Amino acid sequence: MKTETPREIAASITQYIVLTTGVAGVVFTALFTEGIWPWVALVLLLVFIGMVSNRLINWMIERYISRRIKLIYKTIHRLKTNRFPSEDLDYATDVIGNVNKEVLEWAKSNREEIAMLKEQANFRKEFIGNLAHELRTPAFNVQGYLLTLLEGGLEDPKINREYLERADRNLDRLINLINDLDKISKIELKAEEMEYSDFDVVKLAKEVVESHKYMADEAGINLVVKPVKKELVVHADRDRIEQVLVNLLVNSIRYGKKDGETKIKCYEMDDQVLIEVEDNGIGIDNKHIPRLFERFYRVDKSRSRNLGGSGLGLAIVKHIIDAHNQTINVRSQVNEGTVFSFTLAKSGKK
Ligand code: ADP
Repeated sequence: MKTETPREIAASITQYIVLTTGVAGVVFTALFTEGIWPWVALVLLLVFIGMVSNRLINWMIERYISRRIKLIYKTIHRLKTNRFPSEDLDYATDVIGNVNKEVLEWAKSNREEIAMLKEQANFRKEFIGNLAHELRTPAFNVQGYLLTLLEGGLEDPKINREYLERADRNLDRLINLINDLDKISKIELKAEEMEYSDFDVVKLAKEVVESHKYMADEAGINLVVKPVKKELVVHADRDRIEQVLVNLLVNSIRYGKKDGETKIKCYEMDDQVLIEVEDNGIGIDNKHIPRLFERFYRVDKSRSRNLGGSGLGLAIVKHIIDAHNQTINVRSQVNEGTVFSFTLAKSGKK
């Protein structure tokens, strides 16, 4: 029989002791005594030996295991809990096997934690590298234009105004970048609490479209909101959702085609409202989709920068939707267009 629990080990050893002392006792009683009483005494003695040795062996094993296990638990629980479960160990179960299982689980969770920390460290390094790069380009450009102006360009009417305007555009880029970084870090640090309220998301979409009409007209893009009349009241942070709609709408214009169209469609579902921002612009190759919401990830770097993109727009969108515990998805086809869709909780269905 395979012995597994401390109790079973103690029982086996006891059986062995009782058996060997029993055989010796029977031989001794048969050879050197007479009558029934020595046999009675032998049986009583064997019962006594059985009980005492079982208790004693149990006690020794439990003490031994408890000491060893306490050590293991002390090591693995040092950083996690202060639990030293030696008092409440159940010796009728496979104590050693359980510890083994716990040690393996602990090792696995440690491995996962280390992998996550490594990933975070890499992410930080990459982020700082990207940030330095993003800041360096416009800062150097401004410096270049100012130096040229200082070294005589200021007196040259052919370039002085133009260079100042270029320097100004680069400063705009820097300020955009800093503002977007500020938005992301505020959401991440939860420095500003979310301010939930009930509002009509269709009306908000119409307002966002209205305030971007000029930009869309310049790019030759038509903007549409659907449904035209219906109200869809959601429970969310209005300012933040406005930011989401602005970022998605601006992207649809930036990466749209001339004479194209962007539609913001709102659909009523059971507990949620689904909002889609759909364009028929340049589209995104599928291979870029998994990384699209990462900070500074761009499909076409020069197009994005020339159009004033900070590379943080979609990262901000994702942060805001995550903070609402909702989801965002994207489907796209190169040269056909892109659809970003996200959900919001319906009012009263939080
Ligand atoms: P950016 O400031 O560069 O626009 P975003 O985070 O807003 O940064 O977008 C990341 C990248 O995703 C963009 O550089 C662009 O390549 C791509 N992208 C975003 N929206 C669209 C869209 N509607 N159509 C095509 N490409 C898009």
